[in-house]
Amino acid sequence: MKLFHLRRTKIVATLGPACADKKTLLSMVEAGLDVARLNFSHSDHEVHRKSLQMVREINQKYNTNIAILQDLQGPKIRIGDLKEPLKIKAGQTITLRSDITEPDGKTLPIQYDTFAQDVEVGDPILIDDGKVECVVAETNKKNRVTLKIISGDVINSRKGVNLPQTKISAPTITEKDFKDMDFAIENNVEWVALSFVRTADDIRLLKELIRLKNGTSNVIAKIEKPEALVNIDEIIHASDGIMVARGDLGVEIPMEEVPAWQKRIIKKCNAAGKPVIVATQVMESMIENARPTRAEANDVANALVDGADAVMLSGETSVGKYPVQVVSSMSRILLSVEKEDDSIYYRNMNSIPTGAEPLSSSVITTACTLARDTSAKAILGMTHSGYTAIKLSRCRPKAQIYAFTSNRPVLNMLNLIWGVRAFFYDGFVSTDDTIQDVHEILKEKDLVSAGDVLINTGSMPMHEHGLTNMIKISRVREKGHVRN
Ligand code: PEP
Repeated sequence: MKLFHLRRTKIVATLGPACADKKTLLSMVEAGLDVARLNFSHSDHEVHRKSLQMVREINQKYNTNIAILQDLQGPKIRIGDLKEPLKIKAGQTITLRSDITEPDGKTLPIQYDTFAQDVEVGDPILIDDGKVECVVAETNKKNRVTLKIISGDVINSRKGVNLPQTKISAPTITEKDFKDMDFAIENNVEWVALSFVRTADDIRLLKELIRLKNGTSNVIAKIEKPEALVNIDEIIHASDGIMVARGDLGVEIPMEEVPAWQKRIIKKCNAAGKPVIVATQVMESMIENARPTRAEANDVANALVDGADAVMLSGETSVGKYPVQVVSSMSRILLSVEKEDDSIYYRNMNSIPTGAEPLSSSVITTACTLARDTSAKAILGMTHSGYTAIKLSRCRPKAQIYAFTSNRPVLNMLNLIWGVRAFFYDGFVSTDDTIQDVHEILKEKDLVSAGDVLINTGSMPMHEHGLTNMIKISRVREKGHVRN
């Protein structure tokens, strides 16, 4: 069984009933899964705990570093429970009420207390990813809203409701999210994604909560609201990572604007050295079919060429018929582009990200320049927080990035980052001994061989765990030490 991969672009897959058994999950890891997403819009803590335990057990048994990404539901607005789907026609009206839990003829429950207060007559309302388009005809500003149907033919139970032009009064972090954060803290979840982020304050609040509870989770902002696009620079600055959540984004803004925003957001994240995930409908047809469409294969490839760190699977792996095949197809597409297209390497080399420490950033950029000029096999980084590895990744080196850390949560966290593979190492004594040790580790794993050029980065003196301030170039020797 081969569970170690050198593919640079990472695969995030959502866990669910289709991969709830360990055998399927292990096959997905073998096929190339890097990050397991637990979607807290569905299932309870018990179900998610089982999934998390399976991932942790696989990591322990097979020495893998699969990270957990906990996706918080946020203020997702939904139609309430319906006994049966409601058939509708363009031109008719329906009523939504926030104070009922059961439908009453053409009056349906909506799970959002301040719906009637927030909307204005004329606001567009989209139900079920825009399959039903409506406009507000009347609101009593208390609990009842009448909608005129523009298009669509059925409303199903618990479908999502998007209000693209309405200022939502609900806070971004809901009561449910606060409860769900206890799960993240208890289980040292590596990445937490916040849905429907509007401002950088949403992210700062979540980070403060994590800090107060001594949590270790890093925070991803899901970009799916027009307000988030207005505040995108501050949100990127405040977050540890970004998700281009194309599902809701494509309903909240005109769908034809999503491709340009995807490229713009990725470019900004690359410049800032923040990981970015491209999500939703990436291989959608594989929910039902064993092979992706050509357009889907191109979408995966284009996300890579745009500069994404990772591509994400949702229904394809959580409820789809081919959870293993979809990971393996995605992996093959990514590997093929990484092999064929040299334009994806050595980017962002002429700038230092704003807010970054300039000296260590210069050392990191120089290490990547050296790697390019010497066709180095790998760049090695000693890292405590993961910072060096993430900033090395920003330059998208063709050389592999091998990160060595004694910080166990960081080992898994780095599995989301483009090009980075991390190893546990806690023998930081002297610079020379450490370099020698990590070279031996790589030789034992057959990741480097005699003659390979390696770029070593680190911080001197080592025991201070400071920022990267050292580069050493070496060639792997046949036997014994690896010094130049
Ligand atoms: C999205 O809208 O693209 C997304 C990833 O969010 P969710 O799947 O949680 O609705």
